[in-house]
Amino acid sequence: MLIILDRDGVINEYDGNYICSVDDWHPIPGSIEAMARLCKAGHRIAIATNQSGIARGFYGTDVLDRMHDKLQRLLTAQGGSISFIAYCPHHPDDGCDCRKPLTGLLEQIRNHLHLTTLKGAIMVGDSRKDLEAGFAASCQPVLVRTGNGKDTEHHLKTRPIPGANVAIYDNLGVFSDAFLLGSGLEKPS
Ligand SMILES: [Mg+2]
Ligand SMILES: [Zn+2]
Repeated sequence: MLIILDRDGVINEYDGNYICSVDDWHPIPGSIEAMARLCKAGHRIAIATNQSGIARGFYGTDVLDRMHDKLQRLLTAQGGSISFIAYCPHHPDDGCDCRKPLTGLLEQIRNHLHLTTLKGAIMVGDSRKDLEAGFAASCQPVLVRTGNGKDTEHHLKTRPIPGANVAIYDNLGVFSDAFLLGSGLEKPS
């Protein structure tokens, strides 16, 4: 199965501030191991991440590439790999079609992996826009309580995503364990 992950607040620590250097990029404890477990079980992992810090001039694509090299290195050491990383470098005001909650990044992943649909794939995020993008692209949306996740969970209670059945886990490690055990992941209604 294809599992698409948001990056900030899902894989790496995120406190609301832009991560502008490789040294400031720190994996959430257990997230790399969780990704490795999914890979070793035969699942594919892709990443869809909004990186408007590029358009804002906070860091360049060279720095972003080095952050992703760091991630890939850590994951390779655990026996996993990432199939594709799609990122939106644009500003929210740019009117691009890839910034989540739009589905452009997910379509890039679908095309790169030569899939006709993302139906059956999973989108894991900590923000509402991740869940909305995933749901709009036919993925099962999964929320984790790391990063923005607790706030997102709170807001979903008063303003659910119409039609979406969002599964919620404490972090990527707990999600991965539940997913690999084949329990706890609710099907979309
Ligand atoms: Mg995030
Ligand atoms: Zn974009």
